[in-house]
Amino acid sequence: MTDDDEFHDFYDDSDDCECIDYDVDIFLGTAWCPRCQRSWGLTDEQLAREIKHQADYMAQFECVEEEADKP
Ligand SMILES: [Zn+2]
Repeated sequence: MTDDDEFHDFYDDSDDCECIDYDVDIFLGTAWCPRCQRSWGLTDEQLAREIKHQADYMAQFECVEEEADKP
């Protein structure tokens, strides 16, 4: 199997893609699935959860930076 074949199989799956692993634009309030190229709007609840998730994620790095600044 060549790399081209693998690439093809990847996109053949798009019709039954469940869009679980998607990217979120919290500023636009939209989600985008890199697998099937679908994009959709998020509900306020989904958006709030995503913002909190990203805030928690960023907080990890802020903690690390603060630790690094200590003598
Ligand atoms: Zn998808």
